[in-house]
Formats: sequence, structure tokens, C-alpha cells
Amino acid sequence: MVQRHMAFLTDQHCHTRVSPDSHASLYDMAMAEYAAGVRWLCITNHCDTVDWRSLEYDPACRTVARREREELAQIRDRLPADLDIRLGLELAELQMHPSLTEELSGAPGLDFILGSHHINREFGDYHEQSYADPAHCDALWDIYLDNLQWVADRDYYDVMAHIGYFRRYACYQGVDTALTLAKYGDRVEHLLKTIIGHGRGVELNCSGLRDGCGPFPSEEILRLYRALGGEIVTTGSDAHRPEDAAKCLDQGRELLRACGFRYIAVYTGRKPDFIPI
Ligand SMILES: [Zn+2]
Ligand SMILES: [Zn+2]
Repeated sequence: MVQRHMAFLTDQHCHTRVSPDSHASLYDMAMAEYAAGVRWLCITNHCDTVDWRSLEYDPACRTVARREREELAQIRDRLPADLDIRLGLELAELQMHPSLTEELSGAPGLDFILGSHHINREFGDYHEQSYADPAHCDALWDIYLDNLQWVADRDYYDVMAHIGYFRRYACYQGVDTALTLAKYGDRVEHLLKTIIGHGRGVELNCSGLRDGCGPFPSEEILRLYRALGGEIVTTGSDAHRPEDAAKCLDQGRELLRACGFRYIAVYTGRKPDFIPI
């Protein structure tokens, strides 16, 4: 157990300019996180095996961990002494290039890996979809669950990132579609049981709380995970800009408490430790 003041926040999902969709320096991001009350921070830049536009293999994935290490080495001395900082990856689309699994997840110096999925073979990036047609939404949820199950069946990740997250893009288009238990209960339960069975966990991604699209996963899925015996949870703001650093982590922590979780997991060298909520 990590003996620390209970009021501090943990953010184990944030991006810097090592990610193609962020311009933030690690120093600015870390200082914004610290100012917001975060004392345990893990940087998790995108490590995608494919380019999101072309869906072609992207060799840049092989240097993300190294670039992140170098970025931290340059500024580490300037960070507050009581900020625990760790290095991780948001590792995605290994299903398209499974032969890279060992190389990417085994990169030196990694503390934490988010198992993530944003792009499917059939339609590409969930971000690029039109959600107007309910039949297309159904097809996307099916494909999404197939891909998450592929990740869950493997052992390269520590926690599964933002289950149900693409609801956000529908929400931006004024469409309400979600990974509900009423519709997908059996598949979600199988997914969660697989994660638990492998000794892995689930991320509570608070970015949807920030933009009003709900937490990822939803409260009902968090409650099911807990009821099935799931104990390992992390919290992440998924900030790509210092302005979003640590946003809604406090709300996320309250939600975890309400769902019956007693600890938040924090990772060093791919091993969890537990902080009381
Ligand atoms: Zn993501
Ligand atoms: Zn992210």
C-alpha cells in the first residue's frame, strides 16, 4: 500500500507532444497536473501500430517509448520532488500487427500500458464515423466489442482504456448511442470476466465527464465489473492540453467510491500498488 495523503489525485492517462494529436510539452503538462492536485502521474502517449488515415503500418510506433523517456530525462530535475511520475503507453491496434506486441509492450522503462482500441479494419477510426444511422451504430458496437475482446484475451496490457468511449463522437453529433447492458450485457460481462481472469484492470477515463458525454466505462458497467469481483481500477483525465489536466478526476474518484471500489491502482514497472480512495 502506498502511504500518502488520501486527498491526492492520480492521473494515469495523459498525452504530450510525443502524441501526434497533442502539442503540450511534458513540463507544461506535468506542472498543470501538479497544480490541480495530482501527485501520481503517468504519461501515456499514443502508440498506434497504424496511421489513422491510411490504416497503413506506422513505423513511428517503434520510437514512442524512447521519445517519451528522452522527453522526461530533459525536464525531470525541474519537476516538484513530491510528484511521482511514471512512463506508460496508450498502446492501440496491435490486432492489426500482432507481431509487434512483444517489441512495443516490452520497451525498456515502461511502468504502465493502457490496452486501447480506436481504429477498426472495417470502417477506420471511430472518430471519423457518422453516427446518424442506428444500424451503423449497432455495427460499430459489435466490431468494437470484437476488438476489445481481442485485447482482453492477451496479456500485454495492464488496464483496458476507456470502455465505450466512442459514444462521445455520437454525442458530439447529437446522437445518443451507448454500450448498454440492456443490449450488450452478455458480451460486456464476458469481456470483464476475461479482464479479471487475466489479473488485469479497467481504466475509469474521466474525459467524458469533462465534455458531458458520461464516464468511460459507464456507471452500470463499472458496477458490473465490481460485482463480478473486479478490483483493479485506474483513473485518467486523458488530457491532451494542459488546460484539461486532471479535469474531473475528483468526480471520477467519487464515482468509484459510490460503485464500491476501495482502492485506485498505480503502476510502477508494470506492477500495481494500491492507494485507498
Ligand atoms: Zn484513447
Ligand atoms: Zn488517450
